[in-house]
Amino acid sequence: MNVKIYSNQNTLNTLSYMLESNRLAHSFLIYGDAGLGKKTIAKYYAMSLICEKSQSTPCQQCVTCKNVSKNNHPDVIWVEHSGKLQGFSAETVRNICADAIITPNNAEKKIYIFADADNITIQAQNALLKLIEEPPSFTYFIFTAKSKDVFLPTIISRIISLGVSECTEAECRLALEERGFLNDDITDAINCFHGNIGLCISYIQDEKLQETVKLTKSITDAIINRNEYELIVAFADLESDRNIAKTALMLLDKQFHDALIARFTDRFIGCYPSGSKKLSQKITSSSCEELHSLVRNAIILIDSNVNLKLILSTLCGEIINAT
Ligand SMILES: [Zn+2]
Repeated sequence: MNVKIYSNQNTLNTLSYMLESNRLAHSFLIYGDAGLGKKTIAKYYAMSLICEKSQSTPCQQCVTCKNVSKNNHPDVIWVEHSGKLQGFSAETVRNICADAIITPNNAEKKIYIFADADNITIQAQNALLKLIEEPPSFTYFIFTAKSKDVFLPTIISRIISLGVSECTEAECRLALEERGFLNDDITDAINCFHGNIGLCISYIQDEKLQETVKLTKSITDAIINRNEYELIVAFADLESDRNIAKTALMLLDKQFHDALIARFTDRFIGCYPSGSKKLSQKITSSSCEELHSLVRNAIILIDSNVNLKLILSTLCGEIINAT
């Protein structure tokens, strides 16, 4: 199956332009939220760099393109993650430093893809720095991450950073139809996750994410109805799983964002647009802002490994006070 990228034309054009004008950079960072196709773009970039037939956009027909598409090309190396945080170990980085100076197997270039590099350590970046500063003529690096912030300024200054964004809901529908999903499922998913193809697919396939969305909706409803009991019950349901709790709070934060803008527009980003509209009639803009900062704070605490039950019960109380 061909690698197809929706939207993000600027990101694709940047690479085509570099290839056509012979000003190709050696290192790239593709950054943006989960589900926006960063790894697909990384693969497309790798294909563009070594396609046998085309100078700028990959033909997707040659053996090289096909093998890259199947993650089965010896010169396109998806760097292995390790450890609980799924970073890149010192040993892996050492091996890459040794391997990167050896000429490619079949292609003219070799490409290392550090996908989901969100937990790349400072040590790993420092170890890679020299290679990124002075790469062998045939060696290229592609990183993908949710944000640029995880990278050292010395790395960022030496790589081309390209942001990715959502596609339109119509494009998202098309992408989901091409994958053979049912119409009703597609409509539900787009209602929750709009133009984020990856999250729409996860929503259709992953019961955990469906459950998380449901809990986010329950919390939103409890705030709308000023029902403290429902709010406490919904928050208690989040206590069993750190990841679910974090995702639910991120979704909840989007509800507050949408409630804040609902007076001016209906271009919502949250998973429960009708709830956001009701919420905007029930709470003031300053409450929305306060709720936003409370939730952001709780998310930071979840990331810093503070006791989950404590974070959630504190937040629940703060929401009751703020509304
Ligand atoms: Zn090709």
